[in-house]
Amino acid sequence: MNQVTAAANLNDEASLNRKHNFCAGPASLPTEVLLKAQAEMLDWRGKGVSIMEMSHRSADYVKVAQEAEQSLRRLMNIPDNYKVLFLQGGATLQFSAIPLNLLGNEKSQGKADYLTTGAWSGKAIKEAKRYAQLGLGEVNEVASSKASNFTTVPDQDEWQLTEGAQYFHYCANETIHGVQIFQPPQVDAPLIADMSSCILSEPIDVSKFGMIYAGAQKNIGPAGLVIVIIREDLIGKASEWCPALLDYANQVNKESMLNTPATYSWYLAGLVFEWLEQQGGLEAIAKINRQKAELLYKTIDDSEFYINNVDPQYRSIMNVSFTLKDSSLDGQFLTEAEEAGLLNLKGHRDVGGMRASIYNAVSLESVQALCDFMVEFAKKQA
Ligand SMILES: *Cc1c(COP(=O)(O)O)cnc(C)c1O
Repeated sequence: MNQVTAAANLNDEASLNRKHNFCAGPASLPTEVLLKAQAEMLDWRGKGVSIMEMSHRSADYVKVAQEAEQSLRRLMNIPDNYKVLFLQGGATLQFSAIPLNLLGNEKSQGKADYLTTGAWSGKAIKEAKRYAQLGLGEVNEVASSKASNFTTVPDQDEWQLTEGAQYFHYCANETIHGVQIFQPPQVDAPLIADMSSCILSEPIDVSKFGMIYAGAQKNIGPAGLVIVIIREDLIGKASEWCPALLDYANQVNKESMLNTPATYSWYLAGLVFEWLEQQGGLEAIAKINRQKAELLYKTIDDSEFYINNVDPQYRSIMNVSFTLKDSSLDGQFLTEAEEAGLLNLKGHRDVGGMRASIYNAVSLESVQALCDFMVEFAKKQA
């Protein structure tokens, strides 16, 4: 990417008018990646066309797609008995694809366990329950932290696990509530994790999972893409009414090109993976992510002005939600933050308050700028 850095002065991001963007998604992307995409936008690597204008079946594009997968495999150390798919419909369509692929049919009466720890795992079980309502299988909520307003994770001793379940689904990082489950739960059923907002934020042991999926627009690339990492033994079990496009076996056979994939998002995801490898991979980025989260939580905890109620052991390192003790100052906080170049801090409408999403592409400097602003703002109100 050295040619690209020459094209613009990266040391002075302000000259590019790049602000501190804490958007929950679609989220911040590395400036280097956007510059590279910009540089090859009109004439992709001397071919005289943009990558967006190429057939997804051309040798050039297939190479881009395969290199993106290889880079992701290196980053996450994905074992060979896992397939990687680049699909559409976001993480949300996976809420339906998972039971369609794994719950069986009215004859097999499959069973699935779901842990509810916030808005996204709540949506996932809601979709799965449609199958249970039709008598096509059983969907069991093993536990829910709703009573705590989703500020913690139910103790595993209290989970009502189903014997012989086809899978156990949970959300590793609840983007809206700021609750993260750092260790994969130890259950007998294959683990399925929604990692939309924490994938690539730290190293994980993929072999502990049956399937991992993640919408791209948090930590991977632009919207329009969802990545599925699935163990081979879970492929080829779709029910007979599963739409062809959602059947993992079909997508594996066609290398995610059963129909036209989101070619530009896939290409850009590849550039993000390349950037991550250049940063030193997930160990290196995790170190920075921990620093960012510690700094922000410390700023909140040290103040008399900001509150975060999440159980400390489950505080998300990617999505930090907080409220002002005096919520009548929310509007002023957001206006002044924006004036200071700190964007998209408004919390999700379901929980209110503030939220800073501090994904991989959000630098420590950006988090420092936010913390400095928060301290100053609190001081002024005192
Ligand atoms: C954003 C998000 C989703 C939804 O993703 P879409 O790509 O919009 O469908 C699902 N789960 C989690 C954890 C998310 O953060």
